[in-house]
Amino acid sequence: MLDWAKIETVLLDMDGTLLDKYYDDYFWERYIPEIYAKQNGLNTVEAGKKLLAIYKAKEGTLDWTDLDYWSDQLALNIPALKIKVSHLIKIHPYVVDFLEFLSQSSKRVYLVTNAHSKTLDIKMKKTSLNGYFDRIICAAEVGKPKEDTSFWPGLKKIINFSRETTMLAEDTEKILQSAQAYGIKHLIYVARPSSRKAIKKSSHFTSIIYFNELI
Ligand SMILES: [Mg+2]
Repeated sequence: MLDWAKIETVLLDMDGTLLDKYYDDYFWERYIPEIYAKQNGLNTVEAGKKLLAIYKAKEGTLDWTDLDYWSDQLALNIPALKIKVSHLIKIHPYVVDFLEFLSQSSKRVYLVTNAHSKTLDIKMKKTSLNGYFDRIICAAEVGKPKEDTSFWPGLKKIINFSRETTMLAEDTEKILQSAQAYGIKHLIYVARPSSRKAIKKSSHFTSIIYFNELI
């Protein structure tokens, strides 16, 4: 599927790609609506609808992943609530095997995430994956979300990679499109971001279900 001899740098997304997105979906779509409903005297369905509209307006922006923004916006302590359900943070099957394989093949490996540094901390504490990366870059450091084509030249200034010899794995097609527009050559779509949702392959990008397909 991939010619590893032609790949020097591997960029990996976190949520949905390495980690089960069920945690994030549960947190924002079920847990927060329950808490928000109680706090604001709404029923859970009303709270869910109201929150969905509030979330939608921020999708694909850095605010979307900014825990401090949401703590302010919703008058809730979002980092503390995230920790409360952190038992749901799970690594996808074969991710550790894949990271071991990359480490043995001496590839440069970077975790590149839109996630906020506080979310990243909670997830790395829980999974201990941080040791596998040459560096971790949060989109806030670049100043743009990955959906924005100008993210990639910003990232290049930080870690210097060649578009020809770089692979990116993502569970968001819009981000793969933005990386493709910038010229990153090897693009992989993760078709099963959440363990609780159906597999959905991409019609544009090479799709995998688990990373064992790339080893
Ligand atoms: Mg993702």
